[in-house]
Amino acid sequence: MSVFDLAQQVRTKQRRAIDVANDTLAAIDARDNEINAFLHLDAETIRSQAERIDATVDAGGDPGRLAGVPVAIKDNLCQRGVPTTCASKILEGWKPPYDATVITKLTQAGAILVGKTNLDEFAMGSSTENSAFGATKNPIDPSRVPGGSSGGSAAAVGADYLPLSLGSDTGGSIRQPAAFCGVVGLKPTYGTVSRYGLIAFASSLDQVGPFARSVDDAGILFEVIAGHDPMDSTSLNAPAPDVMTTINDGVAGLRVGIVPELIDGTSDEVRDRVVAAQEALVAQGATLVELSAPELRLGLAAYYLIAPAEASSNLARYDGVRYGNRVDAPDVAAMMTATRTAGFGDEVKRRIMLGTYALSAGYYDAYYGQAQKVRTLIIETFARLYAQCDVLLGATTPTTAFEFGAKTADPMAMYYSDIFTIPSNLAGHPAMSVPFGVDGDGLPIGVQLLGPALSEPTLFRAAKILESEAGR
Ligand code: GLN
Repeated sequence: MSVFDLAQQVRTKQRRAIDVANDTLAAIDARDNEINAFLHLDAETIRSQAERIDATVDAGGDPGRLAGVPVAIKDNLCQRGVPTTCASKILEGWKPPYDATVITKLTQAGAILVGKTNLDEFAMGSSTENSAFGATKNPIDPSRVPGGSSGGSAAAVGADYLPLSLGSDTGGSIRQPAAFCGVVGLKPTYGTVSRYGLIAFASSLDQVGPFARSVDDAGILFEVIAGHDPMDSTSLNAPAPDVMTTINDGVAGLRVGIVPELIDGTSDEVRDRVVAAQEALVAQGATLVELSAPELRLGLAAYYLIAPAEASSNLARYDGVRYGNRVDAPDVAAMMTATRTAGFGDEVKRRIMLGTYALSAGYYDAYYGQAQKVRTLIIETFARLYAQCDVLLGATTPTTAFEFGAKTADPMAMYYSDIFTIPSNLAGHPAMSVPFGVDGDGLPIGVQLLGPALSEPTLFRAAKILESEAGR
């Protein structure tokens, strides 16, 4: 059932929010011991939210656009009084004193906040294997990773526990797990969704966005969470893009750009589905424009300087004084060292070291400065491409979901998972992964739509066509 229909039923008492809550809890109970999508879940709070929603309906009120719709939340978003860990030991036991803006918006829309989902520690990774609390399993094939870093949010929707969840995407962390779990995932335009209350990884790249079973559902969640927020200084002071009004308008006349840099290097099966997606759009009236953009290949290297540099600064606040866990020691410096040594996992330490090195005197120009120039080059490259096409179509990921342990020994191999998703983050542009068939093992394949800033309405129109053609 669509989110729109579910909310409609709750509003008209055809279905009670409490029943939705109980069904959701039963679905999670039946499978999440194995899947491990949730780090925190409290049945009583879930039921009490549902009862409040039903009471509003009974009193003749309208709980909102997501009335009674269960939504799972990535555990790097602050929810007042609810444990928020970023899947890190350093934040274990910490309860934020405030709500992220997206949490406030969901509550105001009548959603049921179901719990906090697993991720790679501080959103650094592509498989959830970097979680300090155990990896999440892919609901389609539990011997495989769900992707990451928002693996728990993707798995919760992919396992059909609930229709919607929130993730964050710094270099691909919504789109890559969406592709691996067979769900829709959107990284919105930088600045359209508030980052207030999102625990920062790399602030110039981070965006919150939706996971959903369908393109329509993703559109509704995006509209609910988007909009200007004075609490986030990078929030766009403009109306959020309206995607639902035009979502069924089709792709007639749409110029779809194809660049080898968003396809080359994939498995044959992924490539075949990207070609099939091109054909599906053309069959509905779009035209293909063949372009090339070798500069996009530089995105990965630039990202692995810029993101760690920002992370090294953002994560300096976990010092044993203000948040979470502390390891006591005779003096302050020793306490901070001991706290950070015990509290952070290997990947987080690797990023902090890389970033600190890239920013240090004598190396700043050669590394961070160069990477910023590449970032500008990528922005200019996209501008050149979007002068000739409306959207770009390519692969979300080089392969389908891989097995546990396949890339843990080789950070470079893991980083390569995001080769196609990172350029949009560097440019601040929106991009979306849409399920488009499966490989020979039945594992989902996602195709990626990219567009210029604020082109979400166009992406959703094209995504809607792909969704309807995916089964063919
Ligand atoms: N996998 C990428 C990384 O490890 C992207 C993560 C993200 O988008 N949060 O940095």
